Amino acid sequence: MYPTSDELTRWRGGFPRAALTPRRVAGLLEVPGCARREALDVAELPLATVAGLLGSPPGHRSPYAHARRRQFETACTADGLAALLDPVRDTLGVPVVRGRVREIPAGPDEARAEATIAALADAPADAVTLLRGPVLPLRLGGRETYLSPDSLIVAGAGPLHVVEPRPFPCVDGVADPAQVAAAARQVAVTVLALRGFADTATRAVLVLPENFSLRPTGAALDVAPQVRRLAALLPTLSAAGVADAPALPDPDAEDAAARVAESVAALGHRFGDGCLGCDLFGFCRSEQDERGTVSRLGTAAANACGTVDTVADALALADGARAPVGPAETALAEGLSRAARALDLVGTA
Ligand code: SF4
Repeated sequence: MYPTSDELTRWRGGFPRAALTPRRVAGLLEVPGCARREALDVAELPLATVAGLLGSPPGHRSPYAHARRRQFETACTADGLAALLDPVRDTLGVPVVRGRVREIPAGPDEARAEATIAALADAPADAVTLLRGPVLPLRLGGRETYLSPDSLIVAGAGPLHVVEPRPFPCVDGVADPAQVAAAARQVAVTVLALRGFADTATRAVLVLPENFSLRPTGAALDVAPQVRRLAALLPTLSAAGVADAPALPDPDAEDAAARVAESVAALGHRFGDGCLGCDLFGFCRSEQDERGTVSRLGTAAANACGTVDTVADALALADGARAPVGPAETALAEGLSRAARALDLVGTA
């Protein structure tokens, strides 16, 4: 069941709403089933501030990485987006001949979303269009909210194709698969939001620096699988537990750190391999360490252990100190016991 707007407002306490970005929403795909992360996202809390109060502020990106990103953005958008025309034509076959830049005026989200929709409705079929400061309506966990990317580039009209510049290199035609996969998830968020009001293709173009230069080159990216997963996931975000969790304090309150920890700890969670990319990773990892959970050993170990939650219980099953309950625990006890014997044999060989 979804929390009501009143319940979310109460739980958010004195924290301001933080804009939802494609990167943040895409992060949900990496941690499916974590009610804690869902609650923080559905309530649109500033993750980095919350993580900082929990004692695990997210790491800072190197200033060199920032500088390179800015340089590449400038290379892509200079001279009326001229450098994007060839990559778009070559990879998507969209016959663009010009670039077009529109600023979405500052204002409330509703007004900016209307201006964004109007600007995209006007997008010419023969142009690459850059919107600065767009806002896209997005339904998240049963609620209408807004996606606020810094900028949005699309090619053509009916359908629109997302054009996504990224600063990681494409060397000899090959880019880092992990970074491509992360970009695909984020493009999928944008495509899904655009599809709420405009004909938008899942075929996008990733624009990357070619080899060790800053010259933009294009690579086609079909995000249909990621769009399907998001379309299935986003309506189900329940933010379960918000109604019963203690309200968050004002972030400047003297006891803010302790009260934030109490409130966040009250939410159910699912720790796993995908948590590495979550801003709350440090807090949740410490929690797992304190409890000695099998999840701390990775998703594969947690899945193998099923309902057996802690390493101590798993070891007790393995050496027979604890009797298994039910067929699943019996199978697990046998498997663990065989593994322990194998390790002993290796140790004595
Ligand atoms: S780090 Fe914590 S909040 Fe983030 S996804 Fe993992 S368990 Fe959930």
